[in-house]
Amino acid sequence: MSQMKLYSHEAIKNLGAAHGFKMTKSLGQNFLTDKNIIDRIIDATGIGPDDLVIEIGPGLGVLTCEAARLARRVIAIEIDKALIPILGVTLGDFSNIEIINRDVLKTDITDIIEKAKAENPGIAGVKVIGNLPYYITTPIIMKLLEEGTPADSITVMMQKEVAERICAPAGVKSYGALSVAVQYYCDVTKVADVPKEVFVPRPKVDSAVLRLDVRSEKPVDLIDENMFFVCIKAGFSQRRKTLLNCMTGLRGMDKAAMRSLLEEIDIDPMRRAETLTIEEFAKLANRVKKEVPNG
Ligand code: SAM
Repeated sequence: MSQMKLYSHEAIKNLGAAHGFKMTKSLGQNFLTDKNIIDRIIDATGIGPDDLVIEIGPGLGVLTCEAARLARRVIAIEIDKALIPILGVTLGDFSNIEIINRDVLKTDITDIIEKAKAENPGIAGVKVIGNLPYYITTPIIMKLLEEGTPADSITVMMQKEVAERICAPAGVKSYGALSVAVQYYCDVTKVADVPKEVFVPRPKVDSAVLRLDVRSEKPVDLIDENMFFVCIKAGFSQRRKTLLNCMTGLRGMDKAAMRSLLEEIDIDPMRRAETLTIEEFAKLANRVKKEVPNG
């Protein structure tokens, strides 16, 4: 089966017919049909012979088989029970692939990685890959990052608009809480823009592939990481309001107290959160923490 062009429209149709499989729109099933894009994703991952690959949403296995040719081991997490017997056929030639039939959001990925490493001490790096189900792109990425998943990089396809938000620098319209959070955890690189025409069925929006290299050292020093995220959330809670208005009330601080705190750290209270850099959010969080140590 590994010789079959899994990504072809014909293969998708034939596999569906042979297994009575129907794609489920609500599971974000948009299958890739372009070998060039598959190759670009796989090239961007930099998978090496001693790597463990964790794939999210293998579908029919188009990325899975390419990853398995390069990696020591591939573990793919797929929610759709109906795809499991199909993957058994399409990936049947590989002995280094394991499919887990589970909801990725309810899966302890760190535990999977640790167990795989314990069983296979030769594993060197860990790469997460996937053409993500778009209805849960942000929760998947934030889960991986917030849980401190021990992966070196995350190379994933997502809707273009989310990719733009993740990549956005301070000051541009698409910059928001997601940009600050992902850029805090990762060094972000855009790999490719992907037109909607290369998927079956065709989604309504275009896509993009990002590579997120998980930082071993964070870009800012924080007294309290939680306070950093509290400030980001508060700052972006009402995008049209000034930073002063968004932050007032935080940890019981009134407007006058917040104004003087912002002025003290040289941040104009009339600015909007979307103009603050990660360094400025860190400065703000550290100053609030000093003001309200138990907050
Ligand atoms: N990798 C395949 C490809 O590129 O053709 C399929 C990608 S498709 C966009 C997303 C895949 O994620 C589907 O196979 C879908 O069933 C699966 N999926 C959706 N929700 C999931 C979840 N919560 N946990 C694990 N897999 C999920």
